[in-house]
Amino acid sequence: MRKEMLEAILCQARRLHPRETIFLLRGKMHGSIIEISELVVPPLVTYGYGFANIPTYLLPMDFSIVGTVHSHPSGNLSPSPADLNNFLGRILMIVAYPYKNSEYAAVYNCKGEKLTFKIV
Ligand SMILES: [Zn+2]
Repeated sequence: MRKEMLEAILCQARRLHPRETIFLLRGKMHGSIIEISELVVPPLVTYGYGFANIPTYLLPMDFSIVGTVHSHPSGNLSPSPADLNNFLGRILMIVAYPYKNSEYAAVYNCKGEKLTFKIV
């Protein structure tokens, strides 16, 4: 992921705090590497307190969507059971309060295992 994209996510997370923010991640697979190329604002998203919800039935069949990113205003960087149950795509990225830099971001697979996350 490019630095500017991470900045955009952190900035939006700060702006919506203490509500959660959420984006879809568009990108490409290169073998076991996923390159995120674009942030997509999901249709009819609800930015809630303690949840950010996408009505998934409204999403287009779009295989360029590789995952999602959302914020944890609690400061906890781990995915919740609900996050893993509502897993969309291949990766789940979480940014945690106070959303300062890449140390407040983590990426997981659908099993909740932490993946290597690189800013380029
Ligand atoms: Zn979550």
